[in-house]
This record gives sequence, C-alpha cells and structure tokens, in this order.
Amino acid sequence: MKEETQIIHNIPVDPLTGSIGVPVYQTSTFVQDAPGVNKGFDYARSGNPTRKVLEDLIAKLEKGTAGFAFASGLAAIDAVLKLLKSGDEIIAVDDIYGGTYRLFTEVYQKFGIKVTYVDTSNPELLHAAITDKTKFIWLETPTNPTLKITDISKIAEIASTNDIYLVVDNTFTSPVLQKPLTLGADIVIHSATKYLAGHSDVIAGLVAVSSEELAEKVKFYQNASGGILGPWDSWLTIRGIETLALRVYKQCDNAFQIAHQLAELDEIDHVFYPGLKDHKNHRIAAKQQKKFGGMISFYLKDNRVETAEKIVCNTHLFKLAESLGGVKSLICHPASMTHKATPEKLRKHAGIEDSLIRISVGIEDPEDLVDDLKLAIKNAVNKVLA
Ligand SMILES: *Cc1c(COP(=O)(O)O)cnc(C)c1O
Repeated sequence: MKEETQIIHNIPVDPLTGSIGVPVYQTSTFVQDAPGVNKGFDYARSGNPTRKVLEDLIAKLEKGTAGFAFASGLAAIDAVLKLLKSGDEIIAVDDIYGGTYRLFTEVYQKFGIKVTYVDTSNPELLHAAITDKTKFIWLETPTNPTLKITDISKIAEIASTNDIYLVVDNTFTSPVLQKPLTLGADIVIHSATKYLAGHSDVIAGLVAVSSEELAEKVKFYQNASGGILGPWDSWLTIRGIETLALRVYKQCDNAFQIAHQLAELDEIDHVFYPGLKDHKNHRIAAKQQKKFGGMISFYLKDNRVETAEKIVCNTHLFKLAESLGGVKSLICHPASMTHKATPEKLRKHAGIEDSLIRISVGIEDPEDLVDDLKLAIKNAVNKVLA
C-alpha cells in the first residue's frame, strides 16, 4: 500500500461505535471491573485511548516499534534526555534548534550532562568528538535556518559501531519525506506543532523508537514525569496528520518553484534550499529525502538588518511569525527573532547573515507567493536606498 493510503487507513474506525472520526476520551480515570482488572486503561496520564491512536500512528509513520505523545516538542525532547544519567555525553549538530540548545545548556548541564557540538554534515569531524561517555548523537537534518543536510545512514553506522544511540529530530521534513529509523536511527523526535499537525493551531511533541527496550524506557519517563499530550490536542494532531502527505507534497512543490525564482532575482545574494543544485548537500538530500521540503532561506546583496526587516513587514500572504509547517505561509527574520539570543559571532558562523530571511511555504498558489515576495523585496530595497 502507498503511504497516502496507509496514513488514512492507519487511523482506526472506533471499534465500539463505528465512529469514523476518532473519539475524544475526555477523562482522567477509567472504571475497573475489579482491582487491577481494566479494559487496557487505568489512569489517563499512563494512557488515554485518543492519545493512543496518535501514538500508534506516529509509530507506523516512522516505522518504529512504539510512539509517544507529549505536550510539546520540547517535552518530547525532555523525556528522551531522561534516558541519560549524570556523566553521560551528547554529540549534537552545531546549528541545533535554539530551544533544544537552551534545554541542554541551562537545564541538563547542571545535572552533569555534557554536550559537544559538531558539524555533522562532515562525518569525519564526528569521530574525533566521540568519547567512551558518548551516549547520544543528536541530529537535525535539514537544520534551521540554513538547511544544512547530514547523511543519516553514515552517522548511524558510526553510532552503532560505537554503541551510541542516534537521535534524529525529524521536525523539518516530517515522516512523509524522510524516515530516520529506516536509515539506522534509534529515536525520532517531532515538534508535531509544525508539519504533522500542520495548521498552526496546536503545540505537540511526538517520539518514535526502534526497539521494545527503548519503548519501555520512554514509556516509563513519559508516565513518571507526566508531560503528556491531552486528548483534544491529540485529536487535533490526528486530524492534521490525515492530510499530511497532501500538504507536504504541495508545500515541497511550491518551495521548489519559489526557491528557483528567488535565485534569479538581482537583489538576492544567496538562496538556501536543498533542492537547488548549488546547495552544498544537494546530493545527500536527494538520496535520503523524498522531496526537498517546504523551508527556504535567503539573504540579500544589501545585507542590512533594516532592509530585511522592511521585507518581512511588507509581505501580505507571508505572515510575520515564528514557527513553520502550517498551511499558511510564514516569514521570519532569524537575526532579530528566532536567533536574537545567539551571539553575533556564532550567528555568522552558522551562516545567519544580518539580512537572512526564512520562509515556511504554505499551500497557497505558488505564483501568488512569488509575487508577494518579489514586491516586498523590490519595495524594501528601493526604499532603503532612496
Ligand atoms: C519547534 C521545534 C522544536 C520545539 O517544539 P515545540 O513544539 O515548540 O516545543 C524542536 N525542534 C525543532 C526542529 C523545532 O522546529
């Protein structure tokens, strides 16, 4: 069966009533027939039937043995970090999501967990960073906002020969474009807030794992720490996933077209998009992703903060906001928004120029989107020069 069919039919019809929509079990507890005798659920932190549909769904989508749903992407990441103990080490991709960086440095460091940052798009650099304390290699591919790609299979080989778990934050591609567990990763994490839910209307996090052993551990910490996703938000996320393939393919096709047209504009210095032949990891992206994704970033020849700020304030279809992956197109200026807290030197090192603009392409008509961007760019550049 093709993925588009599977996604729809992996969402079960309610066995009790035949309801084709997934029922929302808004309950805290479940009545027992006798002490310890129940119908598979006892208390809703430990398990809820609506949440379970979502958890089974992400496990199937990522081809894992089990899935888990959390109150946010960061709550999902937090639960996975609890698999570690004091003294353990993580090697992470150097331009990791800012919220994950904050969790590593300002929360887990004080519990004795050390993180080393490496440019994982160059697997040679990884070898040098591995120690006998390394327990996790932590990837995002593509990264945010310069869309750097790491070869997941290559890193998985290195991880497994060294007895290290490979964790992949798969938020930027979603499982319809890339399935890290099938490439050798052990744990996949999603901010389901983004492409999976897909409508910018819910905060949610998901985890899928490759083995029963890992499933038991994540389940334990999910219940022990309690950062679970509620039934309504589980339902909304399931509802979003029903159209995941449709949305993501359209977003990729739109982005492909927009990236090529932006690259032609005189005002633009560089466009980052893994689908462009001049992207430095284009070949790896083509190998491990089904399509090139819906995220693009670019910077201008006029590399001033003011110019970029004018552009992001002057688009009409692209709404100025953080986040990504929804049906409505979004635009943001990382240097003054998502990466404002990153010191300038680190920002430049990560390729985040002052005028770098990031767009999350929605499902609108691509010509309308290109026109919106072109007009905002031309107006801003002329105005600043005048
Ligand atoms: C947004 C995001 C997160 C955090 O997810 P929340 O749902 O906002 O907690 C983690 N990783 C990546 C790559 C993200 O884009």
